[in-house]
Amino acid sequence: MNHFPGGKQLVMQSTTWGDNNQQDMCFLNDYFDEKLCRKPKGMKQILLERGKWKEGLRANCQLCKNGDKDPNRVDCCARRIISLEPDFVAQKGALHEIISTAGHKCVFYPKFHCKLNYIEMYWGATKNLHVKTAIILGKFARKTWHYMDIYRKEIEGKLAEYAVKKYKSHRHVLDNILEELNKVEI
Ligand SMILES: [Zn+2]
Repeated sequence: MNHFPGGKQLVMQSTTWGDNNQQDMCFLNDYFDEKLCRKPKGMKQILLERGKWKEGLRANCQLCKNGDKDPNRVDCCARRIISLEPDFVAQKGALHEIISTAGHKCVFYPKFHCKLNYIEMYWGATKNLHVKTAIILGKFARKTWHYMDIYRKEIEGKLAEYAVKKYKSHRHVLDNILEELNKVEI
């Protein structure tokens, strides 16, 4: 969320704060400043409307940027004040809301702990499996290509089987393959 209105920021849904006060997160269609109609309000405007804006308040402070979560520091910067507003605290993520609305439970695994999620192991295993499958597929494709080449040379039946085996050591069937095959008793 930006400090000021407009710009690149997420468009949030309306909310209810305090004693059932509705608050739109975007300026309404008929807002007096036409430039801002339907634009996201930004933190300053949100706090102004809630009577929580203080002159000179910064968007972020260094302590918050450093991740200092001292519970006694409640009004150091606009982001901190908003983050402690009960309606913002209660707001679930969009994914959580969609899943809950559909009547399911949404439980997230702890972040950055992939070992606690067995699906990660399954993905790892299938990745190996896919690599192996791709190698096998490549071998089959090569074998088919060998048969095509041999059939083009009008070699068929058991002679063709024999000629395909010869490919193990040669990229192409030797031009004298017919001569060679004639010597072989199959
Ligand atoms: Zn702060």
